Amino acid sequence: MNPPSSTSSKESAPVSTQRFRRKTATEEPSPRDRDARSEATGRTVRLDDLHAYYGEQHAVKGVDLEFAPNRVTAIIGPSGCGKSTLVRCINRMHEEIPGAYATGRISLDDTDVYGDGVDVVSVRRVIGMVFQKPNPFPTMSIADNVAAGLKLSGVRGADVKERVERSLRGAGLWDEVKDRLDRPGMGLSGGQQQRLCIARTIAVEPEVILMDEPCSALDPVATLRVEELIEELKSRYTIVIVTHNMQQAGRVADSTAFMLSGDLVEFGPTQQIFTNPGDERTEQYVTGKFG
Ligand code: ADP
Ligand code: MG
Repeated sequence: MNPPSSTSSKESAPVSTQRFRRKTATEEPSPRDRDARSEATGRTVRLDDLHAYYGEQHAVKGVDLEFAPNRVTAIIGPSGCGKSTLVRCINRMHEEIPGAYATGRISLDDTDVYGDGVDVVSVRRVIGMVFQKPNPFPTMSIADNVAAGLKLSGVRGADVKERVERSLRGAGLWDEVKDRLDRPGMGLSGGQQQRLCIARTIAVEPEVILMDEPCSALDPVATLRVEELIEELKSRYTIVIVTHNMQQAGRVADSTAFMLSGDLVEFGPTQQIFTNPGDERTEQYVTGKFG
């Protein structure tokens, strides 16, 4: 996780030689393992002194934060404060932007996500992401949208069908689409499309799900449905949700982080952040005085 070599920095991350662990198809969990997994299995994501840049622009300024397994953590703060940048660092999407880089350390349990020998593609499989605007693959059917990532990871035949059904059930969409799996994903409503994208994300069995304002393009009913789904998913994943909607953070998040101008101002139990924050800036934000 080093900046371009022209920029020497004392903040560069300690290099881990540990390979990024990912179960291969031959190490599939047995159904029993899977049951155990569904009880308590998320992983801890830790940020240590995370800085993120777009060229000269310093968008995230030394954030230390821990996302607990099987919990939902919300990130709130005014537009432009660095929420999206921070979550895109977690699954290494930030570095895809020309000129963008990050320093510090991000770990998933004991594994350095930016360590030497870590395969970026497997990072993104293990740390899945759902975006603001539902983005089903436009030419694909509902089933193929969910299967898209599976085929890349070598799952074939009947297993694909089974995993598609399991993922659609997991995303709370199966009953609505089971009779039209071969119809285009784009034909679904916005809320259904977002749940389809969640199904696509969980199909490859990630450990962590990042959601960047997943409901901001949805109507209130669809929003509620996705929020219920988030509540269900947390028994199996570590969930990070960026939201500009404070009521939503209040409804879904166990913990909330408040950011301002690239800094993490405050992090704590959601209830405390909203009712008894320790920092005056948090109080002003949650009471609607700015943002
Ligand atoms: P938020 O998600 O909280 O609205 P962002 O993480 O998108 O904030 O943006 C943080 C800062 O980084 C902002 O100042 C924004 O203008 C800048 N930024 C975001 N994306 C880019 C980009 N692709 N290139 C340059 N600057 C960017
Ligand atoms: Mg954003």
